[in-house]
This record gives sequence, structure tokens and C-alpha cells, in this order.
Amino acid sequence: MRAYLPAYHLKAATDLATVLRLLSEESGGWKPFAGGTDLMVLLDAGKLPHRDFVNIWNLPELSGIEVTPEYVTLGALTTYTELRRHETLLREFPLLCQAAAETGGIATQNRGTLGGNVANGSPAADSPPALLVYDAELELVSARGARWRPLHGFYSGYKQMDLRSDELIRRFRLPRSGKDWKQYYRKVGTRRAQAISKVCFAAAASVADGRITDIRLAFGSVAPTVFRATATEQSLRGEKISAALLSAARETLATEIAPIDDVRSTAPYRRHVAHNLLAQFLEMLPSR
Ligand SMILES: Cc1cc2nc3c(=O)[nH]c(=O)nc-3n(C[C@H](O)[C@H](O)[C@H](O)COP(=O)(O)OP(=O)(O)OC[C@H]3O[C@@H](n4cnc5c(N)ncnc54)[C@H](O)[C@@H]3O)c2cc1C
Repeated sequence: MRAYLPAYHLKAATDLATVLRLLSEESGGWKPFAGGTDLMVLLDAGKLPHRDFVNIWNLPELSGIEVTPEYVTLGALTTYTELRRHETLLREFPLLCQAAAETGGIATQNRGTLGGNVANGSPAADSPPALLVYDAELELVSARGARWRPLHGFYSGYKQMDLRSDELIRRFRLPRSGKDWKQYYRKVGTRRAQAISKVCFAAAASVADGRITDIRLAFGSVAPTVFRATATEQSLRGEKISAALLSAARETLATEIAPIDDVRSTAPYRRHVAHNLLAQFLEMLPSR
């Protein structure tokens, strides 16, 4: 059933202070509306329970990509099109660019934002695994002030996150590690374009003399939230790459994921694919 449009309100705002005041006025009264690519799908399906939205699309404080020697900082309104075209990101954070390039089609990439993807909290979202691998932090702002926190640990359950009703995601920052990472990103869906992930995997590792000196592994669609597979990382860090190590890593990963059956896939298939993607990544690392 389609939504009854006159029941909804979209307030226009052009400055951050006005938005933060609205968000703080009544708890949960107003919600941000960014690119609208998630919200409009719900509206069209008659499944958008919330009625009052404030348009944040034109806020300069949430826009732009800034590069400093320590960080690349991305406004929450950065679109997928902006991500996939940015030179520094393409060079140093290619997993995020690949995630952006594989998100929806051109129209969605022009309108969908990084902040919306993270705030929507879907376990199948494609950019958070890449952000997790890069140790991204996010800045949350409200009329009470601002706070930075790591994306790792931001989600506590299905669509549950450390984002209060009066807070906006303002921006993300990615530390520029300068490490020589081997990087890997793979989204497995029903088809190559316009598919929601059955499994999404982002990974990076540094290797010296056949030994894994550092490793980061993040998954989407195999648990109630996107997450860093920290136990599997721990089992691999400092170890020599071998067939035995690979098999032990698959066993550890099995304890960290909790895939479900849904309309897109089955739990056993997702488990199988997650294990294979991990194996594929480890096999591509130099073993001597
Ligand atoms: C055809 C189609 C294909 C898609 N394909 C993919 C895909 O392949 N992969 C994928 O991951 N997603 C996909 N999506 C989902 C969607 O495009 C993304 O999640 C997008 O990034 C959402 O951003 P938005 O700005 O449009 O969010 P909106 O729809 O505006 O908002 C989404 C949610 O986030 C909140 N929000 C938005 N911005 C902020 C902020 N700065 N601070 C706090 N809360 C905020 C809103 O209140 C709302 O709850 C697809 C959507 C469509 C319609």
C-alpha cells in the first residue's frame, strides 16, 4: 500500500544550528532526510512509520572531502559518485571506492550518501565493511556538542547503534596509515548490478617474509550487524601463511558469524561463501 503523502512533513533547513535545534526540541520528533534513497523506498511501500523529517541535503557542514597529512575526512553527505571519483581515496582507500561503485545504479550513487548508509544500520550495507577495515571514526553532533567515536562497536544489534535521537552524523575520518596493505573487497549478490549483498567482505593485510604482520577483516550480511572479525584477525596476526593456518582461520570465523535464511539467501550458503572469500583473500597474500 502506498503512503498518504499529506501525512508527512519535510522541513527545509540550510544551516546546521537550525537542524540541531529541531532534532533536540522533542526527543525523536524530527528525523534527518539526506539523499532519501532508503527513506523513499519505505515511503513508496507505505512502510515509513515516522512522519516528520528535516532535509539536511544542503548543509555545507556535512559536505566535502578534506585531505590532511593524517586523515581523509568525508562529510556525511558525501555521495557514492563523489567517493568513487576521488583521487586520494582511489589510491589509498580503494575498498571504499569499490563499495561505492557496486552500490545500486548511477541514480542511487548520485543521491545516496555515506552518512545515510551508516545511519540506516542495515547489516547488508556495502560501505561499512570497507570503513571498518580502514578504522574509520565518525563525528556525531547535537545541540549539546560533538563527539568522535570509532565505527567499530557503533552497532550493538540489528539496526541498533550508538546514535541518539538528537544527533547527526557530521563526518567520517580515515587515518592515513601509509602501510603497504594488500586489500580485497568482494560483494556477492544475485547479479553484478543493483543487487543487495548476500555476503560482503572487505579485508586488508600487511605481510613480511610470509608472515602476516597486521590484518583487518570485516563482513556484511552474515550477522545482525556489519562487523570486524576480530577473533579471526587475532588468530592470523603474526602467523606464517600456510594451509593449516587457513583451515584454522576458517574454524575461528565460523564462531564469529551468525548468518540467517532470508529472501536473498540461506544461512549455509552465506557461511560457505564467507569462508571461501576469507580463503581467497589469504591465498592471494605472498607466502614467502
Ligand atoms: C535502487 C537502490 C539500490 C540500492 N543499492 C544499495 C547497495 O547496493 N548497497 C547499499 O549498501 N545500499 C543500497 N541502497 C540503499 C541506499 O541507497 C543507501 O543506504 C544510501 O547510502 C542511503 O543514503 P541516503 O542519503 O539516501 O539516506 P536517507 O534515505 O536519506 O536516510 C537513511 C536513514 O539514515 C538517516 N540519516 C541520513 N543521514 C544521516 C546523518 N547524516 N546523520 C544521522 N542520520 C542520518 C535517516 O534519518 C534515515 O533513517 C540502495 C537503494 C536503492 C533505492
